[in-house]
Amino acid sequence: MSDSPESLDLLVVGAGPSGLSYALGAQGVARRLGKGLRLGILDAADRPGGWVHTRSEGAYTLETGPYGYLDKHPELAEILDRLGLRDQALYPAPAAKNRYVLARGRLRRMPSGPLSFLFSRILRPRAKLRLIREPWAAPHPGGDETVAHFAARRLGPDAAEALVVPMFTGIYAGDPDRASLASCFPRMAELERDHGGLFKALWRLRKQVRKAGQGVGAPRGELTSFSGGLSTLIDAFADHFGAVVRLGTEVISVERVGPGPGVSDGFRVTTAGGETLHTARLALAAPARKLVEVVRPLDEVLAGLMGEISYGGVSVVHTAYHRSDARRVPEGFGFLVPRQAGRHLLGSVFVSTIYPEQAPSEELLLRNVLGGMMQPDLVEADDDRLLEIVAAEHRELLGIEAAPCFSEVVRYPGCLPQYEVGHGALLARMEERVAGLDGLYVTGNAWRGIGLADCLAKNFAAGEAHFGEDG
Ligand SMILES: Cc1cc2nc3c(=O)[nH]c(=O)nc-3n(C[C@H](O)[C@H](O)[C@H](O)COP(=O)(O)OP(=O)(O)OC[C@H]3O[C@@H](n4cnc5c(N)ncnc54)[C@H](O)[C@@H]3O)c2cc1C
Repeated sequence: MSDSPESLDLLVVGAGPSGLSYALGAQGVARRLGKGLRLGILDAADRPGGWVHTRSEGAYTLETGPYGYLDKHPELAEILDRLGLRDQALYPAPAAKNRYVLARGRLRRMPSGPLSFLFSRILRPRAKLRLIREPWAAPHPGGDETVAHFAARRLGPDAAEALVVPMFTGIYAGDPDRASLASCFPRMAELERDHGGLFKALWRLRKQVRKAGQGVGAPRGELTSFSGGLSTLIDAFADHFGAVVRLGTEVISVERVGPGPGVSDGFRVTTAGGETLHTARLALAAPARKLVEVVRPLDEVLAGLMGEISYGGVSVVHTAYHRSDARRVPEGFGFLVPRQAGRHLLGSVFVSTIYPEQAPSEELLLRNVLGGMMQPDLVEADDDRLLEIVAAEHRELLGIEAAPCFSEVVRYPGCLPQYEVGHGALLARMEERVAGLDGLYVTGNAWRGIGLADCLAKNFAAGEAHFGEDG
């Protein structure tokens, strides 16, 4: 085992969106302050970007991981500016405006506001009557409530299953009976706490939005990608950092060292290749489940807590059809499927409607997601079975009888951390352990939000804060 002669100021473990944006924030602020920053970024894989991966296959642009992020934090524009990508951002085509949900046997358009729910045919009259009683719903029972319980308590069981559960599974692929509302949808928990109910909150905020002159119903963030797909962002990070990013370098353990003779205070990081590196500050941005054994030598308790986070997997199946074979497919963004429908698909996104440049113009490209915590067998299922399921469900729901002219299956076991009941308290205990280890930052999508926007923006801000004036 060789001891690296050089000591770094910051070593980031994991070149996914979280680690790259943390490094960018730290480096930017250090440069502005005229401080040098000896920086290293290590990743076990042979390409940076973690789950973000765009593949081009003929005229198809295939996002096997995320297909966009919500442009909802100011830091995101700053990241694009820093990477020279601001004028390359790609937004959904107007035709993608409508979203659908499977309700009462067919796809129905999602209403745009609470009032239009009452006129939509997603809910039966009885469920609408219950929905109207939302302002008088039973109070919060105390403690960490599940997503399903919260939704049923406030909106009634039918609206909960028809609307909230599909939205939840579309993001987390989780189990709504185990997921924590406060951790998965903190905004909903906040609206109830601060305004006494969802309708009251919407009504009050509507007035505020009008006062600010933003226009009622303005989206909280627009879905953003690039014409070459999301890998454009990762490629720009990779170009920016150059040789600072070292791929194929798995970190197997981290320990606290120094101060002592010839060693300053910091961390010793050991890689699977037997190399050791010394760094004053360490940012761990790999998935929590992959870090359990890595942090054990540093803090046994932290390792145990990180091991408590469960992960779910999904299968992503792309299928393309000739438009002439898909005439009954409604124009829009895609559709979500409630668990009570007894189907296998969690949802399908109409990629070529959202981003027409990502498929040949005479074809409809769909990205279909299956599996999750409630159907884990579909993450293990073989290609033929997954393609059969998708074909059968497209036949019944979209009226597509023809075989796809293109298909591709990708499986991701253990890709999505689950924010289950108790997650907030678990995070607080993890944060407490980390705070006791000066110079350590631990992040990744188990910590500060699962969406790409949160991974990018929150870690960029953290990097700036840790290396700024007071850092
Ligand atoms: C299939 C799928 C679809 C998604 N769709 C969307 C979407 O449309 N919109 C959205 O906003 N979000 C989406 N998400 C969520 C979002 O993409 C992820 O939460 C986010 O990309 C996670 O980024 P990260 O950097 O925290 O982690 P990761 O992407 O997991 O990156 C962690 C990195 O750490 C590396 N690593 C692991 N162990 C080690 C080690 N021991 N040593 C060194 N390196 C290590 C890995 O190789 C990896 O590169 C999706 C996620 C998945 C899986």
